[in-house]
Amino acid sequence: MAAIINGKDVAAKIREEVAADVKKLEQQGITPGLAVVIVGDDPASKTYVKNKKLACEAVGIYSEEYALPANATQEELLTLVHQLNKKQDIDGILVQSPLPDGFNEQLVIENINPQKDVDAFHPVNVGRIMIGDYSFLPCTPAGVIELIHAAGVEIQGKRCVVIGRSNIVGKPMAMLLLHEHGTVTVCHSRTEHLAQICSQADILVAAVGKAKFVKEDMVKEGAVVIDVGMNRDENGKLCGDVDFNSVEKKVSFITPVPGGVGPMTIAMLLKNTVTAAKHQAGIVD
Ligand code: NAP
Repeated sequence: MAAIINGKDVAAKIREEVAADVKKLEQQGITPGLAVVIVGDDPASKTYVKNKKLACEAVGIYSEEYALPANATQEELLTLVHQLNKKQDIDGILVQSPLPDGFNEQLVIENINPQKDVDAFHPVNVGRIMIGDYSFLPCTPAGVIELIHAAGVEIQGKRCVVIGRSNIVGKPMAMLLLHEHGTVTVCHSRTEHLAQICSQADILVAAVGKAKFVKEDMVKEGAVVIDVGMNRDENGKLCGDVDFNSVEKKVSFITPVPGGVGPMTIAMLLKNTVTAAKHQAGIVD
């Protein structure tokens, strides 16, 4: 039976560290500020934005929310982003994804000042992650690395398999594991012999977006399994990409859904916002 890696606990510890950092900055007259932009009224996005705002408040980060209607234009959104780029009390900008149809999300990301890009999606930050010289880590993959560390698992030399190659999870995840000296394989929808490749992984990260996709026969005995997925099962219940009940019996560590990777994403966003504030104030850690 696997040990459960509790993302809520690890995230709580990171939030405490962030709150302590914010206090120190306050003594120097600096209050980190985050602007969250939402377009349209997708209920899930609204919940994410609300949670991010509450999380900011809890650690002392100043936050602003900008809600544009679904019929706003790309130009209006870009104008807002440019205003936020210049705003002195805002250190981090996050445009909640997905944007409604008709918006060019990549163009919006590319208009965010890379120094305020706390999601680390701007090509400048993506490039920095590639070469290993980065200020911001993409929140979800960075959260996964923290969870592996929290479990006391060494990544160096391990065979790591990432299922998924999206720009926001799979690709940066593979890159961070590589920086930690893992031997990394990235799988996707065209991968042949997927189960066989996964079953050789010492560390398996699932970022597929398919409920209970990873079954017992796809994991190695004693592996570490990190489940990034956030899906609904046949009963509408939140579940991950891993079939938790069967896989859990075979592996050494596993993250649950909910309560695994999810809480880490917001914690890492808070951390990135503080990093952005420090950099903009000329403070180097
Ligand atoms: P995505 O953009 O849809 O990417 C899914 C990836 O899975 C793609 O690379 C796709 O391959 C691959 N894939 C799909 N079907 C497959 C199959 N049958 N076999 C192998 N690979 C397959 O999703 P995402 O944005 O990366 O998110 C992945 C999951 O993580 C979702 O459930 C999402 O909700 C969740 N998520 C959670 C958090 C969090 O904070 N916990 C944050 C972000 C995302 P192709 O590239 O070939 O299409």
